[in-house]
Amino acid sequence: MTAPTLMDYDEAVGKYEPVLGLETHIELGTASKMFCGCPTTFGAAPNTQVCPVCLGLPGSLPVTNRAAIEGIIKIGLALNCEIVEWCRFARKNYFYPDMPKDYQISQYDEPLCVDGHLDVEVEGETYRIEIERVHMEEDTGKSSHVGGTTGRIQGAEYSLVDYNRAGIPLVEIVTKPITATGERAPLVARAYATELRELVRSLGVSDVRMEEGSMRCDVNVSLMPRGAAEWGTRTETKNVNSLRSVERAVRSEIERQAGVLDAGGRIVQETRHFHEDTGHTTSGRSKEEAQDYRYFPEPDLVPMAPSREWVEEIRASLPELPAARRRRVQAEWGLSDLELRDVVNAGAVDLIEATIAAGADAGAARKWWMNELSRRATEQGVELAELPITPDQVARVQAMVAAGELNDKLARQVFEGVLAGEGTPDEVVAARGLKVVSDEGELASIIDQVIADNAAVADKVRAGKVAAAGALVGAVMKATRGQADAGRARELILQKLTAS
Ligand SMILES: [Zn+2]
Repeated sequence: MTAPTLMDYDEAVGKYEPVLGLETHIELGTASKMFCGCPTTFGAAPNTQVCPVCLGLPGSLPVTNRAAIEGIIKIGLALNCEIVEWCRFARKNYFYPDMPKDYQISQYDEPLCVDGHLDVEVEGETYRIEIERVHMEEDTGKSSHVGGTTGRIQGAEYSLVDYNRAGIPLVEIVTKPITATGERAPLVARAYATELRELVRSLGVSDVRMEEGSMRCDVNVSLMPRGAAEWGTRTETKNVNSLRSVERAVRSEIERQAGVLDAGGRIVQETRHFHEDTGHTTSGRSKEEAQDYRYFPEPDLVPMAPSREWVEEIRASLPELPAARRRRVQAEWGLSDLELRDVVNAGAVDLIEATIAAGADAGAARKWWMNELSRRATEQGVELAELPITPDQVARVQAMVAAGELNDKLARQVFEGVLAGEGTPDEVVAARGLKVVSDEGELASIIDQVIADNAAVADKVRAGKVAAAGALVGAVMKATRGQADAGRARELILQKLTAS
């Protein structure tokens, strides 16, 4: 294999305009498979969730899963698609060892959902991604190639196949060509995949876990010289399985194709594989001669004709979608565009919302999650939602702050204790003795001592330099190891020194 000559990214997007296309497969989270009653549990022992239908045994007949059709209609509606009044399944014929029937039931020229769009935002600018089609099909089984170094079939000693996944309902979402994104093309691709994942997750029809393969992206990239009218030849990078990899795969293909074109070469229409370790793609199978799948209408299934009443019922049942929700929380929490973006990027919307539901005010809920807890998540290299603390617990800490039992400094120590596994906020407060010194008598005697020890500063305050009181408050906080209410201490100090 010859090493690709990559062009520097900035130079590449200066010379060439990328055109993208994304095909996303999403496994629906139905209890049973698309055309039979087999369960769909992830991680079951190989070949334990199979039956004559999904194994394609002679004489078996498929029956369409109504819950899956409801799921895809939800996705179609959420993507602003038209739901057609009549369509059919088609047989896509090809031989693959992980496809026991030698054909896949899919949709060809008659998809269920057409002509939608999804708006995504990149660096403050909105890009409308047009959706060509959303269609229903069934997943294939899964091959594992054993004994090689790459996990691919080349170099493997033997291969195993698991048909548990064969027949799981799969929705394919195909964009129209995405143009005019320029240097932001990799970010637009990632933003689209991110927004699509959020959208489908909000519908509750799939867990959309890219690492488990319930959402997989194929990324098409072509380049054309800036100012040209005709698109270049595209490549298709298959099964990219993280949001970050979607961005990297697009970027890497732009650099590679620009390098090839600049050297006078031509782009081969082919399938490519993205490698997480190198950040580059390598050639898969060539698609120069379009494969003949011998599509024909599936004779074992009746056409689908979802009634308009049913479609409207489903539309009415849709939950609040992510874009609408973002607009709502922005207004309710009083966030600027930038603050909203930070909250969304931190994955904190759900957490803050749940913390507010548990009794905290919006400002405090956002403050704790976006400052203290975000910092700790970054330190530990985990997502905010993965921290071992619940929104209820954050709300409890904030309730203690609001009641004057904790100050911010002590609250941070409580968070530290909860994250370290020392128990609930109340248990950490009790075990670490973290209550604010709220006994007025005790606080007053500490203040008397501080005033006596800092006579020169106290004199300045007496002479009217109120700002100097800050040093005395600091001394009180030091004497109480941070457990005094600083605001109350300041009040008492000023009372003692300025009362005539
Ligand atoms: Zn089955």
